[in-house]
Amino acid sequence: MKHYDYIIVGSGIAGLFTALLAKRHGSVLVITKGSIDDCNTRHAQGGIAAAIGRDDSPELHFKDTISAGDGLCDEEAVRILVDEAPGRIAELVNLGVPFDTLDGEITLTREAAHSVSRILHAGGDATGEHIETTLSNQVRTSGIQVLEDSLASEILVEDGKVRGIKVLDCHSDSVEEFACRFLILATGGAGQLYKFNTNSDIATGDGISLAFSAGAEIIDMEFYQFHPTALRLPGVTPFLISEAVRGEGGILRNAKGDPFMLDYTPDGDLAPRDIVARSILYEMDKTGSDRVFIDVTHLPPFTVTTRFPHIYRFCLEQGLNITKELIPVAPAAHYMIGGVKTNSWGETNIAGLFACGETACTSIHGANRLASNSLLEAVVFSERIIDKTAGGVNSLEPTGGKNVVVNHLLNQGHEAKTAISPGLSSLQTLLWEKVGILRDGKGLVQAADILAAWQNSLPPPLDRPSYELGNLILTARLVTEAALLREESRGAHFRSDFPRRSPRWKRHIVFTRG
Ligand SMILES: Cc1cc2nc3c(=O)[nH]c(=O)nc-3n(C[C@H](O)[C@H](O)[C@H](O)COP(=O)(O)OP(=O)(O)OC[C@H]3O[C@@H](n4cnc5c(N)ncnc54)[C@H](O)[C@@H]3O)c2cc1C
Repeated sequence: MKHYDYIIVGSGIAGLFTALLAKRHGSVLVITKGSIDDCNTRHAQGGIAAAIGRDDSPELHFKDTISAGDGLCDEEAVRILVDEAPGRIAELVNLGVPFDTLDGEITLTREAAHSVSRILHAGGDATGEHIETTLSNQVRTSGIQVLEDSLASEILVEDGKVRGIKVLDCHSDSVEEFACRFLILATGGAGQLYKFNTNSDIATGDGISLAFSAGAEIIDMEFYQFHPTALRLPGVTPFLISEAVRGEGGILRNAKGDPFMLDYTPDGDLAPRDIVARSILYEMDKTGSDRVFIDVTHLPPFTVTTRFPHIYRFCLEQGLNITKELIPVAPAAHYMIGGVKTNSWGETNIAGLFACGETACTSIHGANRLASNSLLEAVVFSERIIDKTAGGVNSLEPTGGKNVVVNHLLNQGHEAKTAISPGLSSLQTLLWEKVGILRDGKGLVQAADILAAWQNSLPPPLDRPSYELGNLILTARLVTEAALLREESRGAHFRSDFPRRSPRWKRHIVFTRG
């Protein structure tokens, strides 16, 4: 069996940044299930947050992040995030990420719930593409071994410590084992759980499913962030219309053409994502429409085309000139706030197993992610993983504490009328309808039961689609059962049968395999 010091699963910002740092300390293998550039990172538009502006400070960034997190942020982890942000930005610049500048200074924009302009961007709204291309070029030229079209299918654990990983060759469907000292999951999110989502096809919750099955703890899964504004055009997959569009002056209007956000909150169009998403749903319901609109027609066309070239071009290709016409939008699933539970060094409860990026949960987002903190979280905590492993230490922290509730998945599924294996679209429809932006106990119980029955009926996986479907169903169970347990509304989790925040629930829900 081939042996490496580091095996990194995933080639988005978290995986590639970690790989470049790990190379200084040992042999590295990157495994990725598609091509190196298939990931959510390359679709990121708005940018990356860091307190580098003259009117900004890590303290302000800290306050905004804590306030968005609605009582559930880990303050120590947030402090690390905001303090280490400027250093990680400098490293990205050194690696060659071409952040936009004016007169030699990096330009910053503002996004919802940030109190000042602190979002760095590249190529206008093509930040993720520039970051991904820069990092993948660096990895290619650094001699790091990358296995593309290779899906991590099982974590090998022996005597409570990671030994390696099983990998499916997506062309031949054959499986090979690799050994390592440190295994780092950087597998991204799970947007494919939902019928309407902004994510790449790779976002199927693989890291959650792999880690849970290996005995790792999974936390905060009920908090799935829905982006309020994805393009809603018939036959077009939802395409993100960045918050920065409203940050630059775009106005939300309902189907009658009336602005409405001030009817819901004094923060108006720049309110936190969950509030905007729910307000849009209410407005769609009121007007009997499946969409609302963003209006940028009052902005100078030059501003629109230069600040949002990517969005402008994409819409134009669909026959929509956004400098002259309203942009039809509706909410879509966007970001997995929960994930594999890690401490502030990226360590999980299994020795040798680490997680970073969207698949990890460092609890910096709390119950709701502040826009543009996720790319930042990926680079800050990737670096800390390598700092930790370079010292050869792996100190595990026991789970527990008064603010954590530990659970196992329910042993159910018998009541579901149909136990036939589902397809991807039935899963996505179920989650959208029962475990979406607005949830209630009745719908969640139904969904939990159906999902358990589906999981029991799955045949053994043989190829990439069947592994991904199995991973999505397990991830869906974790989201649904966590949402059922949390009998309150907080951050990105809204229960119409428990519409208020409850002090009793100022704690985290953790699942273990049991
Ligand atoms: C449209 C869009 C816009 C966004 N805009 C912003 C923004 O402006 N600012 C911001 O901070 N965040 C933004 N986000 C969120 C942010 O882009 C992601 O959270 C971040 O890029 C995740 O990086 P990652 O490296 O963790 O995962 P990804 O970039 O998704 O990479 C995951 C990698 O893991 C691989 N993988 C998955 N499973 C397996 C497996 N079983 N075996 C092998 N490989 C596997 C995938 O192929 C992929 O290479 C946006 C997200 C989207 C979808």
